[in-house]
Amino acid sequence: MKITEHLAAAKDRTVFSFEILPPLKGQNLNSIYENIDPLMEFKPPFIDVTYHREEYVYSERENGLLEKKIVRKRPGTVGICAAIQSKYGVDAVPHILCGGFSKEDTENFLIDLDFLGIKNVMALRGDAVKSETYFKPEANGNNFAKDLVCQIREMNCGKYLDEVIEKGHNTDFCVGVAGYPEKHMEAPSIDKDIERLKEKIEAGAEYVVTQMFFKNDRYFDFVEKCRENGIKVPIIPGLKPLATKRQLSIIPHRFHVDMPDCLIKEVENCKDNRAVRELGIEWCIQQSKELIAGGAPVLHYYSMGKSTNIQKIASAVF
Ligand SMILES: Cc1cc2nc3c(=O)[nH]c(=O)nc-3n(C[C@H](O)[C@H](O)[C@H](O)COP(=O)(O)OP(=O)(O)OC[C@H]3O[C@@H](n4cnc5c(N)ncnc54)[C@H](O)[C@@H]3O)c2cc1C
Repeated sequence: MKITEHLAAAKDRTVFSFEILPPLKGQNLNSIYENIDPLMEFKPPFIDVTYHREEYVYSERENGLLEKKIVRKRPGTVGICAAIQSKYGVDAVPHILCGGFSKEDTENFLIDLDFLGIKNVMALRGDAVKSETYFKPEANGNNFAKDLVCQIREMNCGKYLDEVIEKGHNTDFCVGVAGYPEKHMEAPSIDKDIERLKEKIEAGAEYVVTQMFFKNDRYFDFVEKCRENGIKVPIIPGLKPLATKRQLSIIPHRFHVDMPDCLIKEVENCKDNRAVRELGIEWCIQQSKELIAGGAPVLHYYSMGKSTNIQKIASAVF
């Protein structure tokens, strides 16, 4: 089923869902199943699987020159989605990026998804690779998530890149896109970012999943602004429970989100990461309860490959 159909079926009930990462190359699927199994009792109608593009690594040769190598540390998004759908009978939502894909690659990726019976995709631009300051699209690739949404919409209308195909098979993807309650780091203002979010919806996206946030008023204000700007699709909050002291600096740096002062203080007062984990769970439970009371359609948890804290949160909330 499409995410929009799941939401319609849930009526006004808030549903549980989560996101997983493919395992590091060299590992098998068991680690994925071990994380998913304990969360199935909360009946997620869908599970997202992130996509990780290639990274460039430089190693020094014997002659002192640097050699550039391309590595993908977490391949397997499509395979995991197929495995989830067949093992659990739950819809898997693969993330698909502009970065690292030509339009041709994108088309072929989508054909695979369609043949596997995958009905939903999360369309994202992706970040700059680590060795570059700014995001660079592939030659003949999509520049922004909006362009990717347009390409998917074209395929949904039976239009493929190859002009010889006059009328191809209509795929039927429901497309989600990212939203940023605290604005995307490259956007000049939150208003401009929301304007661009609206362009993604007008291009055909049917729901939004937000970046993580630790203050619920950021989400509620964002939803209000989106509605004022005519964005009517469901806006699903993304939540991540804190688990280590280091995340106090890693999360703001990597995801450009604010931490509330009282949370920072409580983390600093924790004697070890076990205590931070308990605090993170408690904080996330309070956030979750308030978001449900505020009418969030889904609570979408970033599991980062570890489910025990998500399980505790879901037990207290759903
Ligand atoms: C829910 C969620 C899931 C994610 N999953 C993944 C994943 O699986 N893999 C991964 O690598 N990354 C993932 N990301 C990270 C994401 O790829 C980055 O945040 C990326 O920097 C932006 O992606 P986007 O789709 O929001 O880009 P876009 O919507 O294209 O926006 C990128 C920036 O460009 C600006 N912009 C948009 N249109 C224009 C225009 N016409 N002219 C000028 N500027 C414009 C926007 O305001 C924004 O600042 C995820 C993020 C979220 C919130």
